[in-house]
Amino acid sequence: MERIDIELIKHFEQLIKSSRKSIVLVPHTNPDGDAMGSVLGLWRVLQNSGLKVKIVSPTKYPEFYHWMDGHDQVIIFSHHPKQAARAFDESDLMIFIDFNQLSRLGDMKSLVESYQGKKVLIDHHPYPGNFTDLVISDVTCSSTAELIFSILQSTEFAPFVDRNAATSFFTGIMTDTGSFDFNVTDPRTFETVAQLTRMGINQLDIHSKVYDNYSADRMRLMGFCLSNRMTVYPQYHTAVMYITLEDQKAFNFVTGDNEGFVNMPLSIKGVVFSALFTEKDKYIKVSFRSKGEFAVNEVCEKYFNGGGHRNAAGGELYASLAETLAQFENILPEFEERIKQSIK
Ligand code: 5GP
Ligand code: MN
Repeated sequence: MERIDIELIKHFEQLIKSSRKSIVLVPHTNPDGDAMGSVLGLWRVLQNSGLKVKIVSPTKYPEFYHWMDGHDQVIIFSHHPKQAARAFDESDLMIFIDFNQLSRLGDMKSLVESYQGKKVLIDHHPYPGNFTDLVISDVTCSSTAELIFSILQSTEFAPFVDRNAATSFFTGIMTDTGSFDFNVTDPRTFETVAQLTRMGINQLDIHSKVYDNYSADRMRLMGFCLSNRMTVYPQYHTAVMYITLEDQKAFNFVTGDNEGFVNMPLSIKGVVFSALFTEKDKYIKVSFRSKGEFAVNEVCEKYFNGGGHRNAAGGELYASLAETLAQFENILPEFEERIKQSIK
């Protein structure tokens, strides 16, 4: 069965085929494995079909994704704004990937708003925004990478999905499901993985490149945070962790070093809600995870200028770390009942 209405897929295909200049693929700010896996996989497929395709990312992404096919083609807007603007000018179709609102583009938002070409959104987050000519959204999909792969199967581009593209799509699925730990209730995810495996991907190698690629400093920071920066609130079945700018300096922090930290407290018996607050120069980066029914995107939307999925959400707060932690403690009673309903 099609995940997406075939009419929408045909519209998508027709927009791509009627592009006369080039196509630009755009992931969200601080792209994760799914955003980059989706973008690089689709880039490879369209490139294989003979089309001109460029990738513009609002910001850079962690080094443990730099091995991926097409990484050297990615234009980073925050580092090369003129090159990014040129890529936009030279294109007539923009495909937004793995986000649901323009604010997720950060400082690149205004440039994109003045874009004259056609726009498409492909995403799996709830509440897709209405800022494109075409929206392809499936919130039941594990990842945008899985969604794009399944869409491509119903298009003329299917034969152009090669092993490199399959590797990128698998990276997206693997990282957005925490290596098949969450967002994987739908058997179609495993059917997709079976198809990708038949295309010759090396799952063990991909896993190792992403997850066995950290520095010793990062491991030490993790140990330090678990010992010194984590508070468990048994009454609320909640754990909170934070990382100060000073901690980051002490452990030579680089982008991506806190990846996965927020998931760890969910391994504590009884904990179903985990929060990580990472201090940045001008704001606090918020990361939430939950188990079961408790919807952390709602907490993020209401109090932390963000959103996301039911069990994984994030946001940004322009406040001090102390204020953020105090605010978090203050709101916990409001969610106590809902958190408790998550415990089976
Ligand atoms: P992470 O905690 O890994 O940064 O983000 C988890 C999920 O939360 C992401 O997949 C994304 O859906 C959402 N998210 C993270 N940061 C933001 C943000 O600043 N704004 C919104 N709307 N969603 C976010
Ligand atoms: Mn995603």
